[in-house]
Amino acid sequence: ATFGFRDVAAEEKPRLVRGVFDSVASRYDLMNDLMSAGVHRLWKDAVAARLNPQPGEVILDVAGGTGDMARRFSKMARAAQLRRGGDDAQVYVIDYNAEMIAAGRAKGGEPEMAWSVGDAQRLPVPDKFADAYVISFGIRNVTDVQAALVEARRVLKPGGRFLCLEFSRPPTELLRKAYDAYSFKVIPAIGEVVTKDRASYQYLVESIRRFPDQKTFAGMMTKAGFTRVTYTNFTGGVAALHQGWAI
Ligand code: SAM
Repeated sequence: ATFGFRDVAAEEKPRLVRGVFDSVASRYDLMNDLMSAGVHRLWKDAVAARLNPQPGEVILDVAGGTGDMARRFSKMARAAQLRRGGDDAQVYVIDYNAEMIAAGRAKGGEPEMAWSVGDAQRLPVPDKFADAYVISFGIRNVTDVQAALVEARRVLKPGGRFLCLEFSRPPTELLRKAYDAYSFKVIPAIGEVVTKDRASYQYLVESIRRFPDQKTFAGMMTKAGFTRVTYTNFTGGVAALHQGWAI
């Protein structure tokens, strides 16, 4: 695409074995399905519906992995374009892991999609570039979350929207207990069976616990300069969608 985006397909593919990408990505997809009992697909659909992508919009799927969200956005924008006309949407998948990007390309994209390696804390994108910035199950992994929020605001046009889907905190004691039992016991056990890697999934569960709860994260968005910050809990607060507007 543009602004010196590194073309991962051209640069990296000859040096890396296709099979490695495929196994990383498909194992990752399988874990997502197992861990959330397939529910992450519904959460993602709900985020796409909330975004309601339009023809001509520039949309960033940051920490986009293999492009799960971007594919949804592209198809929705195109469906709207077929009904009403307008320009093609541009949907950029940006992830700092070149293997994820390569795996996403191997899976196949949509005509509106472009792929790039880039860090959420320093996006390879000019100021006021995008109509929407979406980050799905990515911000928890970013080293400096506040810096990523400030960066998100930098790349959004005035009036642009920020949407973040992330594991969050069930708001009641009862739900929290059930969820703790599931996540501390079941998820590492599934991880062990599927990937032979219990430790990574133990880490994943702990990183979810460490991540700020809904209100704290909303406060961080406000601090980064977003307005009209709101959130919606999914599945009893196991995940939450935060939304805010750049001005
Ligand atoms: N958004 C996809 C989804 O919802 O299926 C992928 C989510 S995956 C759990 C998390 C992704 O975040 C990984 O692909 C990882 O490489 C990426 N990531 C982590 N830290 C990042 C950062 N600082 N900048 C960009 N991507 C990052």
